[in-house]
Amino acid sequence: MQSIPARAQVVIIGGGIVGCSVAYHLARRGCTDVLLLERRQLTCGTTWHAAGLVGQLRATHNLTRLAQYTTELYAGLERETGQATGFRQVGSVAVAASEPRFEELKRGASMARCFGLEVEILTAGEARERWPLLSIDEVVGAVYLAKDGRTNPVDTTQALARGARMRGARIVEGVKVTGVLRAGGRVTGVATEAGEVRADVVVNCAGMWARELGALADVSVPLHAAEHFYIVTQPIPGLPADLPILRDADARSYFKEDAGKLLVGWFEPEAKPWGHEGIPEGCAFEQLPPDLAHIEPLFAGAMRRVPILETTGVQVFFNGPESFTPDDRYLLGEAPELRGLYVAAGFNSIGIQSAGGAGKVLADWILDGHPPFDLWDVDIRRCAPFQRNRRYLRDRTVEVLGLLYAMHWPYRQPESARGVRKSALHDRLAAAGACFGEVAGFERANWFAAPGEQPRYEYSYGRQNWFGACAAEHRAVREAVGLFDQSSFAKFVLKGRDAARVLGRLAANEVDVPVGRIVYTQWLNERGGIEADLTVTREAEDSYLIVTSCATQTRDFQWLSRGIPEEARATAVDVSSAYAVLGLMGPKSRELLESLTDADLSTAAFPFGTSRIIDLGYARVRASRITYVGELGYELYIPTEFAQSVYDVIVEAGAPLGLRLAGYHALNSLRIEKAYRHWGHDISDEDTPIEAGLAFAVAWEKPGGFIGREALLEQRARGVRRRLAVFALERADRLLYHNEPIWRNGELVGKISSGMFGHTVGAPLGLGYVAGGGEPVSDAWVAAGHYEIEVAAERVPARVSLRPFYDPASERVKC
Ligand SMILES: Cc1cc2nc3c(=O)[nH]c(=O)nc-3n(C[C@H](O)[C@H](O)[C@H](O)COP(=O)(O)OP(=O)(O)OC[C@H]3O[C@@H](n4cnc5c(N)ncnc54)[C@H](O)[C@@H]3O)c2cc1C
Repeated sequence: MQSIPARAQVVIIGGGIVGCSVAYHLARRGCTDVLLLERRQLTCGTTWHAAGLVGQLRATHNLTRLAQYTTELYAGLERETGQATGFRQVGSVAVAASEPRFEELKRGASMARCFGLEVEILTAGEARERWPLLSIDEVVGAVYLAKDGRTNPVDTTQALARGARMRGARIVEGVKVTGVLRAGGRVTGVATEAGEVRADVVVNCAGMWARELGALADVSVPLHAAEHFYIVTQPIPGLPADLPILRDADARSYFKEDAGKLLVGWFEPEAKPWGHEGIPEGCAFEQLPPDLAHIEPLFAGAMRRVPILETTGVQVFFNGPESFTPDDRYLLGEAPELRGLYVAAGFNSIGIQSAGGAGKVLADWILDGHPPFDLWDVDIRRCAPFQRNRRYLRDRTVEVLGLLYAMHWPYRQPESARGVRKSALHDRLAAAGACFGEVAGFERANWFAAPGEQPRYEYSYGRQNWFGACAAEHRAVREAVGLFDQSSFAKFVLKGRDAARVLGRLAANEVDVPVGRIVYTQWLNERGGIEADLTVTREAEDSYLIVTSCATQTRDFQWLSRGIPEEARATAVDVSSAYAVLGLMGPKSRELLESLTDADLSTAAFPFGTSRIIDLGYARVRASRITYVGELGYELYIPTEFAQSVYDVIVEAGAPLGLRLAGYHALNSLRIEKAYRHWGHDISDEDTPIEAGLAFAVAWEKPGGFIGREALLEQRARGVRRRLAVFALERADRLLYHNEPIWRNGELVGKISSGMFGHTVGAPLGLGYVAGGGEPVSDAWVAAGHYEIEVAAERVPARVSLRPFYDPASERVKC
């Protein structure tokens, strides 16, 4: 047994490529009191058998930045450490065997250009010039990324380990971590087979063991292992050593030159979860049985595209385990349950290409106390606590592996492990034709099928089958009244003598308001970035109801809880499950509600921005005059067991007024016309309220100030370099989703952060930041430009506005 120190500033658990990258980057930042513990040998988990593809283009700008950084790092690692890595920048060709796939690739190419990657769109013939063994019989087009590459995962890990050691980090093999020590909500070290090690920070980089390791500290790390297959052929004479990587998502295959042979790997639609009962103790350099029947149909697809496989023998059938997460994105950051415990795990078969960037930003996160930029897509705080449920993970894993190469349709919903969290109204909505989508396991009505129609998605990049239903729901809200089930909202109560003071520090807006007032506010970090976007309602002198989105429940509750100083008399409780929420929205909402209550709903008695408990049907509910759709309307907070009776009376009384059930797609269309921001898309922890056009919600001079005020003041004085604007395409047949490049007078100035068709405006709409090349961006500068939005490599003219396209003065909301 190796001897280990009794203390280290940071203990890293796991010596795969990710753990070694975290150690390397901590040491590179000068944090050298780092101890990495590996239970067996470096790379013995998943890393040793990876195919070694290193691609650059990811689904978002920041994740692409990380992948780009990875390639730059690997390119220089051998020079720096003297350890060869095998990294080669051979480029990659992605082919499309259908028009929709080609549209997807072209949309990706537009995005890549926007992120500063070199990208070329190829004809089928040009694709074959780059990849001579390719059969182009079914190929309609392709995309080439010049800077993609491949590496040797074992050598690259060793190079990272050597780089870490050279700077003073200690890496010890053959020592298993058996427990996580904690006290007072903080991690204090680890227990190992070789004794305890005290530490300020512990990083869980334990790959497919990370879930079980997290459980030792009651920390949720939702991932599950699955079998993952590739083959290596016999040598193929004349195979060029610099052959680009070939990706053929339609055949679910990728191809890589490997020492004169072809390595062919797959992402099959139905994966085989593995290790459900726990990863076997002896698992090291594990090879699983090859399961030829499972890969046979995949092999057939690969042979169609690369016919030489028909006449080439197979040298290796490889099957190895890798871990997958419920949404195919990895898990990074400080665990919300335990201070000082960080996680970097669940790499969904892209751990080699992600390790460089993930290790760097996690090291920054640990040393600076916050992520260096918006990492919400991979932030572990996006996970709901139930997601560590093993049966859920196993069932979802069957699907997620294949999704990597499936069509990434807009609005695509998972099909496995559904129906986990349901509103009290779920069955009523289902009976009314709801087609549900899922957020963090919560089933939410996205749209309602007409009688006789199936509530089922037919996906495409154009108008999908629900476009008409969504338009009708949208119109009902604008012209009459619509009913949304928004029960998935997260709801917290902050209560206690110091509640106003505590919330006052967190909120940029004034929350010390009369009882019954609702305040729209952001919570900011010290840099002025928006950590949360929510409403708070003063329920009593010493009590607030805080309402935020389902997707940010864990994150926002953690921010709130950690924002309560130790000596403060205030307690936060998550009451999400205690209330159903109905959004009754539209010009006839008051008339409808009046028929069900004796409360005075006149504007004078019950103005916009206020909230009160009213009788409704036989129940008492909290009615809040607030809206996310830009009409007169009420959010009704109903104790869960009353939800069905309240819903029934509303639906019955609403029929003569034209009440229509409406879903989240209509909500999105309505809110984007009003340019209401969506946290996670339009605003994040790297955007400030001034950039986002939300300075109206900042109480600059309130007593006691607020977190982030100084940074905002400085930015206000300097002038902002980027602004959020709204765009309307001049062509109604091209739709905006996200990340489409924004061109101003022929120059790339930004990208769309969220998009949706606006049915009242009658155009595809998008929000997006525009930047003026480092210069302050004025209203006049924004207005003066000629704008185009690039959709699938084609530029479409667009109108711009800094104000909402619909009802910019909010007259309809306040009436
Ligand atoms: C067939 C296949 C092909 C792949 N191809 C690619 C590819 O082309 N490109 C790409 O980017 N990715 C690819 N991947 C994915 C990639 O291999 C993984 O994402 C990556 O290796 C994960 O690294 P890791 O460090 O998180 O995990 P691991 O390499 O599994 O490291 C975790 C380590 O933690 C150690 N450990 C666990 N518990 C403890 C404990 N209690 N105490 C001490 N140590 C512990 C384990 O022994 C292990 O060494 C592929 C994966 C497979 C299976």
